[in-house]
Amino acid sequence: MPELRKDPILGRWVIISTERGRRPSDFALEEKKPHAGFCPLCAGNEDRTPPEVLAYRQNGIPANGPGWSLRVVPNKFPALRIEGDLNREGDGVYDKMNGIGAHEVLVETPLHDETLVTLPLSAVENILRAYRERVVDLRRDTRFQFVLVFKNHGLAAGASLSHPHSQLIALPILPRRVMEEIEGARNYFNYKDRCVFCDIIRQELQQRKRVILENRFFVALAPFASTVPFEIWILPKTHHPNFAFVESFPYEDAARTLQETLRKLNHVLSDPPYNYIIHSSPFPDRDRDFFHWHIEITPKLTKMAGFEWGTGFYINPTPPEEAAAYLNEAE
Ligand SMILES: [Zn+2]
Ligand SMILES: [Zn+2]
Ligand SMILES: [Zn+2]
Repeated sequence: MPELRKDPILGRWVIISTERGRRPSDFALEEKKPHAGFCPLCAGNEDRTPPEVLAYRQNGIPANGPGWSLRVVPNKFPALRIEGDLNREGDGVYDKMNGIGAHEVLVETPLHDETLVTLPLSAVENILRAYRERVVDLRRDTRFQFVLVFKNHGLAAGASLSHPHSQLIALPILPRRVMEEIEGARNYFNYKDRCVFCDIIRQELQQRKRVILENRFFVALAPFASTVPFEIWILPKTHHPNFAFVESFPYEDAARTLQETLRKLNHVLSDPPYNYIIHSSPFPDRDRDFFHWHIEITPKLTKMAGFEWGTGFYINPTPPEEAAAYLNEAE
């Protein structure tokens, strides 16, 4: 059973994965590890993953076999376990609880060599639809306080399988990074009576120095204080705190924005490794006025080094205005 441990100084929770139990030699090997020839996420290998929790397939085709266009399965090597109770416990200065949570893999396509850029738009729409469905479902479990949707693309960004996939992790605690964003947005709102994200969108669309693309419902931009080169935020122009609870979600525009943005990134940086995450408020009712869901994309072009680690400061060698200019030129 993995364990959640709280840093008594920072208040930050860490997942200590007991069962993976890596030995020193495992780390030495990791970098040289070649891609395995066998792919458990490919069509035809459904019996090599745990049974699906969601799949899009035509009516009448049985579950857990081929014939799907998208599948969601529990992670075979989950960071957190779905079964059990939280068992919050103190041990002197330390706090810990059982590593309860959900860890799911969303297989974006049966085809191994596709990417979010090469897939048809309708497939990207379905990926977004499945994200929302899974978040709504996972939130029914009262043990979970937060669900993160994320994607690791490329080995350097942490993708151990090259088959196109995203992941969802449901957590029994609210992560500090999310809390900080919510607090920051709340403070701004208390002071100005406006949503900081809505204000950013308004100003960026006026100044047009960091906008990468815009359509009816979304804007993609290089954030003013980008932490890494070519960091991109995708913001919906319509204010809503939670991605999964938007009524009549604009799938086509959302998919187009995501795909176009990644296409531009590919064009400028030739298929870089990247991560993206979707930030939503865990309390859509409470945070309705001031939190604004969004996608953050961070290409993995630089490594976190001593200074960043020691200070929480990032040194970004590419000004976001220049990043936006490069991405704007890309077709
Ligand atoms: Zn595959
Ligand atoms: Zn807003
Ligand atoms: Zn965010």
